[in-house]
Parts: sequence; structure tokens; C-alpha cells
Amino acid sequence: MASRRLLVRGGQVYDHDGDVHKPKIADILIEDGDIRAVGAGLAVGGEYEVVDASGRLVVPGLINAHYHSHDTLCRGLFEEMPLETWLLYTLPMGQNRSKEEVRARTLVGALESLRCGITTVQDMLGLSPLNDANTDVVIAAYREAGIRVVFSPMVWDVPPIAMVRHKDSLPPDVQEMLGTTGRPVRDQLDYLEHQFKRHPAGGTLHWAIAPFAPQRCTPKMLQGCADLAHKHDLPIYTHVYETRGQVLIAREQFADHDGSLISYLENNGLLGPKLNIVHSVWISRREMDRMAAADAGIVLNHLSNMKLKSGIAPVCDLRDAGVRLGLGCDNCSGSDVQSVFQAMKLFCLFAAVSDPEPGPELAHEVLRHATIGNARTAGLAHCLGAIRPGYKADLILIDLNDVAYLPYNSAARQLVYTEAGRGVESVIVDGRVVIKERKVKTIDEDALRREVTDLMRHFIADYDAVVESRKRALPYMQEAHRRMWETDVGMNRFIGRTR
Ligand SMILES: [Zn+2]
Repeated sequence: MASRRLLVRGGQVYDHDGDVHKPKIADILIEDGDIRAVGAGLAVGGEYEVVDASGRLVVPGLINAHYHSHDTLCRGLFEEMPLETWLLYTLPMGQNRSKEEVRARTLVGALESLRCGITTVQDMLGLSPLNDANTDVVIAAYREAGIRVVFSPMVWDVPPIAMVRHKDSLPPDVQEMLGTTGRPVRDQLDYLEHQFKRHPAGGTLHWAIAPFAPQRCTPKMLQGCADLAHKHDLPIYTHVYETRGQVLIAREQFADHDGSLISYLENNGLLGPKLNIVHSVWISRREMDRMAAADAGIVLNHLSNMKLKSGIAPVCDLRDAGVRLGLGCDNCSGSDVQSVFQAMKLFCLFAAVSDPEPGPELAHEVLRHATIGNARTAGLAHCLGAIRPGYKADLILIDLNDVAYLPYNSAARQLVYTEAGRGVESVIVDGRVVIKERKVKTIDEDALRREVTDLMRHFIADYDAVVESRKRALPYMQEAHRRMWETDVGMNRFIGRTR
């Protein structure tokens, strides 16, 4: 079979180690999905397709290191509410859905991501039920869209109600709304191994292990995940310290582990270079230092942390501790947008308001977090996140004629502070042009729109029934949330509060 060759010609090619304000003009030769050469005026023989990149900024494809595709169709259904309350609505809307809906929701998220310059999503999917049929639908949808995925169906054996600190204060039927039944450990670990065989990693498919959260997993489950990660050399993602309540749960229920979820992970074999903890809004400075020493990573999700009233992660402290960092966009109903541009901008702005001293300049640094740093979370930093020979050809072309670049003073700063996603003109994933001059080549967008419109009639009827049934739970959940605020935890993650 003839090799797939592509020449991206004459663009300003963003180099993390070069001039990040005015990148040099260069050509990029791509063969069979990999970057073969980068240089000015490349002389290339033989057959190849040309992508004209003149007047374009060529940037490594953005990577979203935290995302869940299961609630894509819930976008725009909520305004701000505490995480635990929000789960009342989103959990049921992701479970036991039709194949058509699972396919459509996966494609919608992939489409939005690609249009916003995201070439890799880490999908920590709440797949329910966990079975071959659902898995096949999701993987087929990602292949159809042409986006790279780090696929990690979530596993857990402690029921969702464990997310609520004062769960015993809730009436049994309210507890039931969140979920009071666990899942067998062995079945889920066997499911994962079975899928690794059925769909071997390769091309645009990568796997990761995702225990939902330490407090949602027994030691047996965490140790099983650690064994799988070791056996298959896979990264691990898990939600840790998203809310203030989770600090209190750690102190009260994990006293045997110093009252620390980081210790609990460590004591079950998970703290190390493969581990990425997601959120860490309420992580202590001591725990940050332990994360840094273990070369474990933290994936920040400012958008959903604010909307779900969790607070603001301590960006400056995390930088000072030297923890490796990544960025995510989280659920479609918890942030309502898959935009790494927004995530990058918030990272810089929160650093700015966290320290009255000027500097450092963070635009070029956050671009590293969103590319190389996020690739590192997936164990792919050797081949993703930069435009270099030997790396995967995942690129985005930004139209410098867009008004965001009028005038054009700095690639790094304008990508981070000015770009809203509008400038993303063409997208290449694994050497394949998936968006060309704003036209999506892989998905029939009009057909998808019709499918989603059709599906939403049923979806909204189900959602209305869920909202109605949850009304009774709200006062109890609100009270449990208030009680969370009664105890001082020795740190503050809210603006305008002193405790
Ligand atoms: Zn999440």
C-alpha cells in the first residue's frame, strides 16, 4: 500500500523551544501519520498532498486531559450548583442509553473538540452498562470522527452515595437517587482486560485506567487497577479532592491513611509517575510536595470547578511545588464547553490573581501544559504535543487573518489570551486532514444534527422525569452541603471568603 504523504507548506510553525511570539516559517513533511521532517523550503520528492499553510500559524494539536463523553447531550441544561447535587441529574442521564444515543453523544463531543483545535481527548467515560456493545459503539464513533482518544471507562466498587459526606442524614430514597449499590471488582477489571484485547491500542486509540475516585474504590479495586496499569504499562486517572467535602471525607473516613487520599492511593500502589489526579482543588501543600516527589501529575479543570461550586485550584502553590500539570475541560454539563483555549486562559488569570507580585509570564508555559504536559499524563510525551520529527502528526492551522490576530504581536499570548476557537481553520490528526478550511471531512454534520434533534425528544422527556423525581432530594442535599462548610479545613479555595 502506498504511504500517506502530506506536506504542510509555508506556515509559521510553533516551536515550544523557539521564538514563541513570532514562530519561523517552515514546511512539515508527514508520512503514515508521523512527522518526518520540519524545515524551511523542504525539497520533497515523490507523490504527496499539499496543505497550504501560508498566513497560518501551525500549532501542535491541543490535548484535553480530562473529559467525559457521557453527558454531552446535557450541555446547557444547568446553571451553577454543587457537584453532589449536580450528580443527581447527570448520573441517570448517562446510564442505560440507546446505542444511537451513545454514538451521537460521542460524535457531538468529538466534533466540538475538533472544531476547537483539540486533537486528543482523554475520555474518562462513565459507561453504563460496561459491555462489549457499548464499548464498540464509542470506539467506532471516535474512529469515525478521526480524533485521537485516550479511552478510560471508569471503574468503581463503592456506590456513588459515598460522594456525600453526611450521607446517613439523607432519607433512604434520596440516597437511592445517587446510588447505593456497588459493582463487583473482578468483573470490571476483567472487562478492561477483555477490551484491551478486543481493541488493541494503536493508530488513534490509546487506553488508560480510571478508578473513579479513591473514596469510590476499596483497596482491592485500587490494587487491581495498579496491577493492570503495571501489566499493560498504562497511565491512571482518578478524581481527587474536587470539593471541600472530600477533604473532610478523607480526614474522617481514611484516618488509617493519615486522613489523606494521596496516602490512600500510595498505600494501594498507585502513587507514582503513571498517576494523574484530576481537580485537586482542595489538596494541601504537603500533599502537593508528595505528588511532585513521586512525579505524579495533576489535571486542572477550572471551568467545571467554578460551575460546580468546588472552588479554584491553587495554581501558584502547585507551580511552586513543582507538580507536573495538565489541563482538562471536564463534562459538557459541568463546563458546557470543550475549549482548551478557555482552560489555558483561566490558568494564567488565576495565577495572576493569586499573587500580587508581577510575573512570571505564563502564556508559553500553559501552551506546554496543554500539549506536552497533557501528552505526558497519557504516557505519550515522547510522541505527542510538539511539532518535531518522529512525533505524531496532530496539528492545527490557525488563520492569522482572523481579527484575533489583528494586529499580530505574539503567537503564544494571542493563542492563550485572545483566541476563542474561531481561528481554528484546519485540523490534522495522525496525518489525516479531518477539518479542511473549516469543513469537517469525517462527520456529516447535517446528518448528525438531524439525529441529535430526533434523539433529544426522548432524552428531554427522560430528563424532565429525572428533574421532577429529584425535587424531594434538594433540601436534604442542600443541608448536607451546608454542613460541609461548618468545619474548618485550614485552607480556602473560594474567592472572597476567609475560611
Ligand atoms: Zn471528571
